[in-house]
Amino acid sequence: MQPHIQNAVKYYSFDSLNHSANIIHAISTRHGGVSPAPFASLNLGKSVGDAPENVAENLDRWLGALNLKRDAAVTASQAQADQVAIIERDQRGTIIPDTDALITRHAGIPLVLRYADCVPILFFDPQTPAIGIAHAGWRGTVAKIATRTVRAMMQHFGSQPRDLIACVGPSIGPCCYRVGGEVIQRARAAFPSDGVLIAQPSSAVHFDLWEANAQQLRELGIEQVEIARLCTSDRTDDFYSHRGENGQTGRFGAVIALA
Ligand SMILES: [Zn+2]
Repeated sequence: MQPHIQNAVKYYSFDSLNHSANIIHAISTRHGGVSPAPFASLNLGKSVGDAPENVAENLDRWLGALNLKRDAAVTASQAQADQVAIIERDQRGTIIPDTDALITRHAGIPLVLRYADCVPILFFDPQTPAIGIAHAGWRGTVAKIATRTVRAMMQHFGSQPRDLIACVGPSIGPCCYRVGGEVIQRARAAFPSDGVLIAQPSSAVHFDLWEANAQQLRELGIEQVEIARLCTSDRTDDFYSHRGENGQTGRFGAVIALA
């Protein structure tokens, strides 16, 4: 990933999406907003205790730095589940209920989701063209929301996995994501192969959300998968981390739009 600073707003972009003139995308950081601690400063989360006017200003600053319009953006009230919504032109500016992935083939509709340890996944099909975005916490990961997002792009847009570029963004890494009983059981059932649950010398078990999501993408035949390998819990200098900050924190955003 590459860092950028525009009007004091710091954000990152994926190397594999930087070369395309057809899309605008970014992962926001904590920097360049107006929120006080513990949300300092570019918090995009509305349900974390920050003032709504701060969140609105932060979203304006971030999307403004990317030359995107807030009133055109589509977002979702994320439910840690596996619903994928297909976004049409008349849904510009709306919030889709209980949804963790958005896809569209329309230009000028920024798709925005929010994160603090869960995995952002961006999708770009340069052929159709079409885009997608997903939010995968442990529940979404074991429910295979990445797979469902790609299948929806295949079914509704005719996307071919060989054309797709998929990017796995900053999220809690295998270094820090210790999990227990139910998560271990569900992850083992969803991902029977090696490399997803990692036993630590201390006998703790860590869940590799990056690998679990990348594995789904590779199994579908997607060859172009970029993994940011930035752990939010280790990198609270740039990102919000629910676990790393004991739940007292904000949300950063991911956005993708067809230009
Ligand atoms: Zn870590």
